[in-house]
Amino acid sequence: MADLTDKPFPPGRYPLVVVGSGPGAMQLTYCLGRLGLDHAVLSADDAPGGMFRRWPIFQRMLSWTKPFANHEKATRAYERFDWNSLLSDDEQLRAIMPTVMDGTSYFPSRPEMEKGLATFAHRAGLRIRHGVRWESTRADGKDFVLTTSDGEYIAPAVVFAVGVAQPWRPNVLALEGVQQYGELRPAETYADRRIFIVGKQNSGFEIATGLLPWARQIVLASPSPTRLSVDTRSLVGVRARYVQPYEDWALAGGVVILDASIESVEKTGATYRVHTKSPTDSSTLVFEVDDVIAATGFVAPLRSLSGLPLQRARPRSPPRRVALRRHARKTRGECRRRRLAPAR
Ligand SMILES: Cc1cc2nc3c(=O)[nH]c(=O)nc-3n(C[C@H](O)[C@H](O)[C@H](O)COP(=O)(O)OP(=O)(O)OC[C@H]3O[C@@H](n4cnc5c(N)ncnc54)[C@H](O)[C@@H]3O)c2cc1C
Repeated sequence: MADLTDKPFPPGRYPLVVVGSGPGAMQLTYCLGRLGLDHAVLSADDAPGGMFRRWPIFQRMLSWTKPFANHEKATRAYERFDWNSLLSDDEQLRAIMPTVMDGTSYFPSRPEMEKGLATFAHRAGLRIRHGVRWESTRADGKDFVLTTSDGEYIAPAVVFAVGVAQPWRPNVLALEGVQQYGELRPAETYADRRIFIVGKQNSGFEIATGLLPWARQIVLASPSPTRLSVDTRSLVGVRARYVQPYEDWALAGGVVILDASIESVEKTGATYRVHTKSPTDSSTLVFEVDDVIAATGFVAPLRSLSGLPLQRARPRSPPRRVALRRHARKTRGECRRRRLAPAR
């Protein structure tokens, strides 16, 4: 009983409600607090960290934190080398990630990332109502009413910091037994199997990299050619740490990287038949495989929001925005500099 009653932000009216407790919501609530803006934070999770409490599935991040760089850790310049720590004006809250990493890789492990975020939340005294699921939203005059597993929240402004981590798959892969990100079995159960991965972006290549030591054959297929971040010189494209399947293909090690659309998938007893078509000459191929994995992207879990009469927020100077801008101008520091405040 004590746990329930000690939870912050019981159902009711607030000037602003933030949904989520991933890095986005954590940075936002920290900055709103610094700016003195009253708000409530709700999250379905039991603790801070968001998606990184579970994923990446092969347990290492693709964003780096360099423990040694040509800049002192508490400086702004160091942030260029640490993509994972949250931002703060307070030195105690800056560059937390290098302090929780064991030095075996400059890509933090998933547990290290989770620990870094939990450390920030603890030191910053972030207040979040955990274990509350936002279920639906309706408009009521100038307010939004959020129905949650704990009751109703009413607010004129809501930030849905719910991430973009809900796996999505096209209808052609809606077949029973086709797996997707987050549903994979332990890697060793793919031993000596032929695996067809649909999707040639980072999640497809992450899965292929994780299964390389186990699979007999891996096919990675999608209509567009693979792009590599080392070629695009940006975060567009497959990151270098997942490129091993690409080299395996280039050196004819057994991986197949195919530019083709998936026309259909059939279950044939214990195996699958995947029918593909080339986007350039329409030639077709059929693959008989043991597992089919959809790595076809992620969407935001926006639930019923698309049905609401929402308008694009681009008024020139609405009174509330002006008030926030004045308030933010008075507030110095990181949250203002980064324009995380609603002043623009
Ligand atoms: C497979 C994958 C790997 C990634 N790897 C990296 C990486 O290595 N490095 C990197 O910087 N980025 C990575 N990203 C991007 C990553 O998702 C973001 O950087 C980060 O998680 C975004 O934080 P967020 O707070 O916006 O969302 P999330 O971390 O996804 O947090 C969303 C929050 O919303 C809550 N929520 C959702 N729905 C509800 C609901 N109905 N009710 C209540 N609460 C709800 C969740 O419980 C969670 O707390 C990856 C993304 C994916 C999909």
